[in-house]
Amino acid sequence: MTPNGKIDRKALPSPLSGGGLDVEEYVAPRTETEKALAAIWQEVLDIERVGIHDNFFDLGGHSLLGTWVMAKIKRELEANVTLRSLFEAPTIEQLAEMLDGDSGKEECVPEIPVRASGEVPPLSITQQRLWYLDQLDVETLVYNLPAAFRIKGELDTDALQRSFNEIVNRHEILRTTFQWHEDNPVQVISDSLEIELPVENLQDVPEQDRDAKLMPLLQAEADRPFSLADGPLIRVKLFRLDDQEHVLFFMPHHIVFDGWSFDILLDELSVLYGAYSRGQGSPLAPLSLQYADYAVWHRQWLQGDELRRQLDYWLEQLTGTLPVLDVPTDHPRPAIQTYNGSGELLSFSQSQVEALTKLGREEGATLYMVFLAAYAALLSRYSGQDDIIIGSPISGRDRPGVDKLIGFFVNTLVLRIKIDNSKDFHALLKSVRDTCLSAFSHQDTPFEQLVEELNITRDMSRNPVFQTLFMFQDVRNRDMTLGDMKLGQVNIHRSGVATDLDLWIKETRDGLVVGLEYNTDLFDPATIKAFLEHYKSLLDGIISDAHQTIAELPVLGKAEQRLLLTDWNATALTYPATAGIHDLIAAQADRTPDAVAVGFEAQQLSYRELDQKANQLAHHLQSLGVGPDVLVGVSLERSEQMLIAVLGVLKAGGAYVPMDPEYPKERLAYMLEHSGVPVLLSESATLERLPEHQAQVVCLDSDWGRISSLSTDRPSVAVRPEQLAYVIYTSGSTGKPKGVQVPHGAAVNFLSSMAERPGLTAEDVLLAVTTLSFDIAVLELYLPLTVGGRVEIASREVAGDGEQLLAKLQEINATVMQATPATWRMLLAAGWEGAEGFKVLAGGEALPRDLVNELIDRTGGVWNMYGPTETTVWSTCEFVTEKEGPMLIGKPIGNTRVYVLDENMQPVPVGVPGELYIGGDGVTRGYLNAAELTEERFVKDPFGEAPQGRLYRTGDQVKYHPDGRLEYLTRLDNQVKIR
Ligand code: AMP
Ligand code: MG
Repeated sequence: MTPNGKIDRKALPSPLSGGGLDVEEYVAPRTETEKALAAIWQEVLDIERVGIHDNFFDLGGHSLLGTWVMAKIKRELEANVTLRSLFEAPTIEQLAEMLDGDSGKEECVPEIPVRASGEVPPLSITQQRLWYLDQLDVETLVYNLPAAFRIKGELDTDALQRSFNEIVNRHEILRTTFQWHEDNPVQVISDSLEIELPVENLQDVPEQDRDAKLMPLLQAEADRPFSLADGPLIRVKLFRLDDQEHVLFFMPHHIVFDGWSFDILLDELSVLYGAYSRGQGSPLAPLSLQYADYAVWHRQWLQGDELRRQLDYWLEQLTGTLPVLDVPTDHPRPAIQTYNGSGELLSFSQSQVEALTKLGREEGATLYMVFLAAYAALLSRYSGQDDIIIGSPISGRDRPGVDKLIGFFVNTLVLRIKIDNSKDFHALLKSVRDTCLSAFSHQDTPFEQLVEELNITRDMSRNPVFQTLFMFQDVRNRDMTLGDMKLGQVNIHRSGVATDLDLWIKETRDGLVVGLEYNTDLFDPATIKAFLEHYKSLLDGIISDAHQTIAELPVLGKAEQRLLLTDWNATALTYPATAGIHDLIAAQADRTPDAVAVGFEAQQLSYRELDQKANQLAHHLQSLGVGPDVLVGVSLERSEQMLIAVLGVLKAGGAYVPMDPEYPKERLAYMLEHSGVPVLLSESATLERLPEHQAQVVCLDSDWGRISSLSTDRPSVAVRPEQLAYVIYTSGSTGKPKGVQVPHGAAVNFLSSMAERPGLTAEDVLLAVTTLSFDIAVLELYLPLTVGGRVEIASREVAGDGEQLLAKLQEINATVMQATPATWRMLLAAGWEGAEGFKVLAGGEALPRDLVNELIDRTGGVWNMYGPTETTVWSTCEFVTEKEGPMLIGKPIGNTRVYVLDENMQPVPVGVPGELYIGGDGVTRGYLNAAELTEERFVKDPFGEAPQGRLYRTGDQVKYHPDGRLEYLTRLDNQVKIR
């Protein structure tokens, strides 16, 4: 401490100690300018001795102190300087050289005059806005500024109350109320005001319960509204915990106070209390200026050219469409903004602060700028936006005389920060520094005036211009004493929040505290806690390597990263790695040869019959050269023949390519040509409708006589897991259809996983309605047959007609069906009443909530099935139990990994939309004859955990819920830039 009770900054450990920067020898000021500058620094920084090589920021200077220094230089040296000058010339020597070389010593800061006596002072511009909001009854708790301090030691309550009253006596603003005068609101200053210091006694509460009891009491005090017309606009209360411990609660209304006023108040309080408790009088010099003088002067000054010049600057910064911050919320945004708030805290260690301070200094940036840049980067991650606007309060006390005044001086600067993900943090910091310095030198434009000038259409659900605030206060120099006692900070959150997210940072002597106050109608506490953790990870990432690109900086903490990437992907499931699809069915045929395997209209085939017919076809196909990775086109009407055909191809070792005869001719022609199938399985009537082709044809009707003479034994071909099972052409709504190549391993894994969840048994009867050309037919045709169940094949006519479908379901006593939302709707429209225990598998596109609810009412339950053809039918599924809330697609199926990534392939936090990437055993080989497309969509796994080292990029936007389930959001256009 210095003799007058201030912190001796020179005695503070240097934030750069051990930082490797050269510490210069002391050299005394030589020239007049150097001497004058040194004197100013000594005064502002409160230190004894300043040498010409001392760096302002090394001495603990920051933007606010810098602003004061500049104000004094302007006044005393009559030099035209801005805060930027100090950043560019941070030592006495450099600054003196700049000033001496500066010819333009014209502009002088105006002194604020004392207002004429008898004048009824108006409100300042900033006060006026608060006053209007109050008149409109807009939630005013936002403007309560509660603070609490713990005091240990013998407290003289009488001296404390007298000290408060002396402060009220010194500062007119604390005796001011706001009333109508003629047509205008005015400040009414009472000659005297006595404020109470009520004491609430908690001594009877058992010691261990006192804090738990105290916090709600403090919060209740913080929630008590003020009356601007009646006052007093400052309230004090003391909680006595025991004889040696008190908590002092203190709350002004923002209209008479601001964050910097706390420093002034605490300073004065300590000095006064010290004097009074020793029986002395006030040692404080009377104030020469009062807040109302400033209000009068400021309104006049704002009329001038200077304001116009500043406004022009801001308008230029804010050209074009202003970005609206879009941090994903937990709850839908209310149509009219609410101000219900709560908060969460996070602290940074001294060593983290030192590292960040040092990093800032490399770019000539303050800690404020470092934290601000990181905050902007984090917001960009959350929102996917690269143009971020942040509001940031600035003290507004850069004029002589007002630096010692309590009052509402603070102004909010609008900082527009562009994020370039491909650049590193140093580059971002540099640009943030430039933005800040220019903003600081145009800080006199009241934000209120700027909003008016911008003339933006007001969205009632959000703050205008910016939707988040960033506040940074260096309170290392704050007087945290009361006489001889130490004050301890007690953090209380305001119950109101001014924007969606208000981030405040306090740099204290013990480290740094970050508070995030948030709108409780938008966010859940868990989301905010996670947000703060992500802020920390990002800053830690910057500490460990500030040369990473912004895109690469880690946002997830290590534990969270493990949860998302590893724990939620722990889907290991064993399946027969040596078998092909048809082997699973053959094994079942051996177990239950006489059970009914497949039905179509009046036809039924047992497992044995199905197996043998398929074997015969396989032998025939083999004789035509079908074997591993040979493609066979299948173009048949729907019947049990269709099943025999695909099984025959698989048993021969080949892979089938479904070609629905109902498809348009051009599309069939494209598929035949593009796949180059050497063999085509069809039937006489269908064949006539097919376009011209080169393939050798097998007609299941006319050729069957010959085929049925072949052996019914199983051909002895062992398939490898990576061998092709089928190629399916996806709809290809944009561009050409693409043939997805699916190997046996992927399909066997899929079927094994489905057999467990949703699960199917030998008792199940599944009605198959889907064209063979959609991959979901794989589930319908094979899944029942791998568990001993029965598949009934619906004809095209039945599948496409609600009433016939309904009749069919009843006729065969179906227990399960898989279909797209459109088919389920059709069935309900036909009057389907469902059935007890009936299993609904729905998917292929987003499920509408109303449809799902109707199905839940009528059946044993609905499964939402999600998956692209490229990852083998379904990749995630969810049993829908809730009848409200968002539609979830659940968790990954067996041996499947899912990743929700941003456009830089970084995992996004829970709740943040990202693109879904899928890895694992279901990921297919890629596209037939389209290496380039394959490369584009099947990307390298950045985490190196997917078995094949590849991920499929789905083009679907999803987000994680806190329990690891995925919510489907939307289909992203592949051309559109995604997060
Ligand atoms: P396809 O490759 O033809 O199977 O189409 C896959 C696409 O259909 C997915 O990428 C999603 O866009 C969409 N999709 C499939 N199932 C669902 C579902 N349950 N909910 C939402 N979208 C789905
Ligand atoms: Mg699909």
